[in-house]
Amino acid sequence: MTEQEKAVLRENIARVKDRAAEAAIRAGRRPEEITLVAATKMNNAERVRFAVENGIAVCGENRVQELLEKYELSAYGSADLQFIGTLQTNKVKYLIGKVSLIQSVGSLRLAQAIDRAAGKHGIRQPILLEVNIGREQAKSGFMPNEIWKFLDKTSELGNLDIRGLMAIPPAAPSDGNNLYYFHEMSQLFIDISTKKYDNVSMACLSMGMTNDFEDAISCGSTMIRVGTAIFGARSYAGQP
Ligand SMILES: *Cc1c(COP(=O)(O)O)cnc(C)c1O
Repeated sequence: MTEQEKAVLRENIARVKDRAAEAAIRAGRRPEEITLVAATKMNNAERVRFAVENGIAVCGENRVQELLEKYELSAYGSADLQFIGTLQTNKVKYLIGKVSLIQSVGSLRLAQAIDRAAGKHGIRQPILLEVNIGREQAKSGFMPNEIWKFLDKTSELGNLDIRGLMAIPPAAPSDGNNLYYFHEMSQLFIDISTKKYDNVSMACLSMGMTNDFEDAISCGSTMIRVGTAIFGARSYAGQP
C-alpha cells in the first residue's frame, strides 16, 4: 500500500465511524449500540490488516475460500471475524472455530448443518437468521412469514446460539431509500423478541451498508456492514 492509500483508508474508517455515531445520536441512541463490521471482500490481506490496525474491530467475509486465504495470511489480526456471505452446507466445516458469527443463515437445512458441525467441535455457534425482506426470488434468506415456522424448531438446534436477524434489502431504488424495508425488519425483530424460543436471543439486528447505513441506524440497526465507504469501490478484476 502506498502512503496515500493508507491515509485514505484511515480517513474513511474515521468518517464511517463518525457518521454512524451521528446517526445513532440523531435517533436518540448511543453510538456504542452499533457495531461496525467492515465488509472486507475483494480486499487483500495487506489492506485488511492495515484496516484492523487502524480501528476496524470486526471483519465480515463473503466467500469461504477468500476467508481461508486471508486467515492463513493473518489478515484479521486481533479483529473479530464473521461470515456474511452465501454459505453452502458443504463449506460450513471450514468456518467452525474461525468465525465468531455466521450472519447469513437463511434455511433450516443450513442451520442444521451448522448445528451438526458445531456439535462435532463441542461449541455453540452464534448465528443470525437472514431474512429476505424484499421477498426477492433470486435471493436467499427466510421469507418474513416463513421465519416463524423455523423458530418453532429451534429447540432441535442446541448447538446454535441464534442472536438475531440480518437483511440485505433490494438494491436501493434511485432515491436510495430502504427505510420501508428497515422498518419492516425492525418490527419483525421486535415481534420475535417478545416471544420465547429455545436457543434464541434477539440481541443483534444486522442491516445497513454503504448507501443506507444511516437510515438503518435510524430504524434500530445494531450492526452495519460497510465495504465501499471504507475500502473504496471494489475492482472485480485482479483481486486479491
Ligand atoms: C459487500 C457486502 C456488504 C457491504 O456492501 P457496501 O455497499 O460495499 O458497503 C454488506 N453486506 C454484505 C452481505 C456484503 O456482501
